[in-house]
Amino acid sequence: MVAIKLTNLTKRYRDTEVIAPLNLTLPDQQITALIGPSGSGKSTLLNMLAGLTQPTSGQISFDQQVVFDSQQNVNVSPANRGLAMVFQDFALWPHMTVAQNVAFALETKLSSAELTERVAWALDQVGLNDLRDRYPRELSGGQQQRVALARAIAVKPKLILFDEALSALDPQLRASLQGEISNLIHDNHLTAVFVTHDRQEALRIGDHVVLIHDGAVAQSGRATELYQHPQSAFAASFIGPVN
Ligand code: ADP
Ligand code: MG
Repeated sequence: MVAIKLTNLTKRYRDTEVIAPLNLTLPDQQITALIGPSGSGKSTLLNMLAGLTQPTSGQISFDQQVVFDSQQNVNVSPANRGLAMVFQDFALWPHMTVAQNVAFALETKLSSAELTERVAWALDQVGLNDLRDRYPRELSGGQQQRVALARAIAVKPKLILFDEALSALDPQLRASLQGEISNLIHDNHLTAVFVTHDRQEALRIGDHVVLIHDGAVAQSGRATELYQHPQSAFAASFIGPVN
């Protein structure tokens, strides 16, 4: 099944076309790794999915529901797109505890009993229930990113967008969080788009991989397909052999 469909999607800043007309479908209940060199348009594309950056033209739909259409003037707000985001810098509130950070976006939506249960569930998913009363400064980088992950799943999104979420962590921690994120997404039947400039990370975490080059799709397919059958010199050099 198709979770995300992009039709003739473009983004232009003044005279510069950052995203060329893009036509792409991304699979449901899988992790799509969006990979490409720095400046290729990965964050711009992710932010357009999130509703944080308005496309210049084209259409975006999630589960066959149109969330953006330049011609029909449809632009569903980020809060109503059923998604959550995880960033490289964690973006936690420093003055709130772990539990308060996870609860924050839900306080007006759930009863207090439901909220307590939801926060405990989300923290349990990332193995952090013991640290619920700590402040972000009292946590390691990996623990802070787990809080950000708990906060994302706590809203019960269908889609989670990751922008270089693990890029600030050391290699060992990265590898274990890649595995944890992969399990979390698959166990909960979520769909994820995971932006990274790291080909090894993309091939490890991505069920599906989209390679972006200068705002256009260079190749899109199963991770193994991209690795074994690169369709261009660019794809071959960028994906290359992974040791
Ligand atoms: P990536 O995430 O792949 O590194 P980005 O999506 O951040 O790439 O950027 C793609 C291109 O768009 C870059 O050339 C960048 O300079 C340009 N760009 C991004 N945001 C803006 C902006 N707000 N105004 C003008 N140019 C921008
Ligand atoms: Mg980026």
